[in-house]
Amino acid sequence: MALHSLYVDLNSFFASVEQQLRPELRGRPLGVLPVMADTTCCIAASIDAKRFGIRTGTPVWQARKLCRDIVFVQARPSIYVEIHHRIIAAVESCTPVGAVLSIDEMACDLMGSEREEARAVALGKQIKQAIYDQVGEVLHSSVGIAPNRFLAKTASNMQKPDGLVVIRQHELPQRLYGLKLGALNGIGRAMEQRLNQLGIHTVEQLCTARRDTLRRAWGGIGGEHYYAKLRGENVAPAPTQRSSVGHSHVLAPELRDPDSALAVLYRLLHKAAMRLRHYGYCAGGLGLHLHYLKTAAGHPRWVDQARFAPHADTLQLNPVLAELWQRRPSDPGPILKVGVTLTDLVEHSQVTRDLFDPDDRHETLNSVLDRINQRYGPNTLYFGGAHHGRGAAPMRIAFSHVPELQVENDG
Ligand SMILES: [Mg+2]
Repeated sequence: MALHSLYVDLNSFFASVEQQLRPELRGRPLGVLPVMADTTCCIAASIDAKRFGIRTGTPVWQARKLCRDIVFVQARPSIYVEIHHRIIAAVESCTPVGAVLSIDEMACDLMGSEREEARAVALGKQIKQAIYDQVGEVLHSSVGIAPNRFLAKTASNMQKPDGLVVIRQHELPQRLYGLKLGALNGIGRAMEQRLNQLGIHTVEQLCTARRDTLRRAWGGIGGEHYYAKLRGENVAPAPTQRSSVGHSHVLAPELRDPDSALAVLYRLLHKAAMRLRHYGYCAGGLGLHLHYLKTAAGHPRWVDQARFAPHADTLQLNPVLAELWQRRPSDPGPILKVGVTLTDLVEHSQVTRDLFDPDDRHETLNSVLDRINQRYGPNTLYFGGAHHGRGAAPMRIAFSHVPELQVENDG
């Protein structure tokens, strides 16, 4: 099985952000506290503090005992969220982010030649460098690459800080034997106890346990999924079973007029089409939805959809969006939120195409466009209609598609 997943986990994220923004804290043992009080615990510890055994959950008094010179700072959540969005944008300048799993973890689905080890490792290095260049030079990350997301996350935990670890199919399951049961994603304290009761105390025992033993531990299909995930299989529906690709965006107050809203919609459409092509799909439908500012009557919204022969060509999607936009009745007020969804997806390879279809030449254009945008940032090349909305829907876009993807693959 090839390498299907790349996982990025920022090291000591909150503490590193503080050190990024306050250079005087760099290289020092640092604890981030929810409030400045002696009775609280660290919610994060810097890489330097971890060397003293201080980690998330260490009480302040104990941290002081472990390291006399420790510095404490109060957490600044809104700044961490802002940096989180910038990190996603940096990763997306290299390859699409498939799912955001937490404020400092994200997974990318490797496609095509990215599944070859040399290419995957090069991509991992490129991502780490993009985070340094675009967000901050002390923001280290650990990258894991593996046949599925579960194992990629496991790999990202194997080397910290600044790791890059590949778990190859042929190394399974022995490569996992050195880990503790509780170090595996999905094995919390309660599950560990259940496994113990079934005679499983080590990862080796877990890996060699029978499928129905795991079924019993998990109380159902979850155990079979775990059995498969340990073996490198992609259990959750891969993007091949994806049914739609969409993006939506809440408009800033100055962009709530129809012209600006339409410009943002074009940006969202182009981004969705790029993702569609990246995953090797064609869409047979385009949905448009508009949410208006609240009125006395409630929350007005308008939804419509168009169908067409499946393709993945931005130049052909533009007029469909324009037509849908024209169909809407007069706006009941300022437009608060806009969204597009590409539906009725089919794999590109399954679309029968007319050999002499004149639109095929667009494919070259689209793929050139995607490569340039991936390389130099999503706004480098765009179609005229999106000009106005450029930059209006920045990292939000990347973040908003995530919940839907997480449902598909929690591995
Ligand atoms: Mg982390």
